Amino acid sequence: MSRSSIMDRLEILADAAKYDASCASSGTAKRNSRDGRGLGSTEGMGICHAYAPDGRCISLLKLLLTNHCIFDCHYCINRKSSNVRRARFTPQEVVDLTLSFYRRNYIEGLFLSSGIVKSSSHTMEQLIEVARILREEHDFRGYIHLKTIPEADPELVAQAGLWADRVSINVELPTDAGLSRLAPDKNAATIEGAMGRLSGAITEAHDARKRFRKAPIFAPAGQSTQMIVGADGASDAQIVGKASTLYDRFALKRVYYSAFSPIPEASAVLPLRRPPLMREHRLYQSDWLMRFYGFAPQDVQQATEDDGMLPLDIDPKLAWALKFRDRFPVDLNRAPREAMLRVPGLGVKAVDAILAARRHRSIRLEDLARLSISVKKLRPFIVTDDWRPTLLLDRADLRARLAPPAQQMELFA
Ligand code: SF4
Repeated sequence: MSRSSIMDRLEILADAAKYDASCASSGTAKRNSRDGRGLGSTEGMGICHAYAPDGRCISLLKLLLTNHCIFDCHYCINRKSSNVRRARFTPQEVVDLTLSFYRRNYIEGLFLSSGIVKSSSHTMEQLIEVARILREEHDFRGYIHLKTIPEADPELVAQAGLWADRVSINVELPTDAGLSRLAPDKNAATIEGAMGRLSGAITEAHDARKRFRKAPIFAPAGQSTQMIVGADGASDAQIVGKASTLYDRFALKRVYYSAFSPIPEASAVLPLRRPPLMREHRLYQSDWLMRFYGFAPQDVQQATEDDGMLPLDIDPKLAWALKFRDRFPVDLNRAPREAMLRVPGLGVKAVDAILAARRHRSIRLEDLARLSISVKKLRPFIVTDDWRPTLLLDRADLRARLAPPAQQMELFA
């Protein structure tokens, strides 16, 4: 195969992979080759946390093994009925590309997904083969994220976890009805069954490693999933509810949201416009509130408007606080950590810094400014030694006063 044809296919298959958002590598086991053995490392600066504006993770080699697919998911540019340029790599070609990018210091690892060729199990075998060759034949110690195919033989899905740092299965859409309408070849029970088996295998391997140091490692960076936002009619409240159930049932590391983007020659069942990118951002913020700020899914759902959507002009934490004004003001000198984490404008680090500082002295507004906290947003919601908001919380125009200035709408959104 000539070099130019490799480049052509790389262009097609890296571009096709940009719709997959789920490729962060935080939390994996630390490995390196500093002792002169093996190749690669999961440590170091900038691993897998940089995303290009179009959603591509720029420190992993992120590509599809092939964009041929026998399935016909309406929202996917690679679906069987789509008229796109097709390409395919062999497992060995992906290995060679990964190693050459790695040696040039372009990447920290590999994110590999695929359209489905011949059958789900055949495709899964090919994906696993890439990871096996990298690990077994090249002692590759860099990061590998394998997208796994829920319809494949469970044995194969289980093998993926033996080679990959992270495994992921796309739940695709927030509702079962949306999935059957837009991805007729897929089935919610099959997807969740495969996620359950992966979750069980990850937990078992983790427990075994506690008892036997040499027990096999299985997907040390855990499992993640991705949901497409805006392709079906699901509200943010439904999406948050679904994400929370997935976190609980499958101990996921992350739920990624991917704003649906209209594709060329789109199916008539899809919306014509993509959702605002801010919607994706608000969902990530709500995810953060549930994971790090002690918000229950119901709290986030209460922050939505009557139509179940999170406001776009203010963040979900402020939206919640404005609805539940009776929970404020919070006394920063006395309140427990959980109450302080509810204050709009106070992040986890700031709360911990205030808790540490108040052991030695009473907190005043100037202490907040010294911690680089913007006091303007906080004032209505806090009490300090020298500040108490009188009537500020009851003002009808409080939302307008705290909302960031309106921005020019995207002309072509
Ligand atoms: S199975 Fe994956 S690649 Fe194939 S059409 Fe569906 S989403 Fe696209």
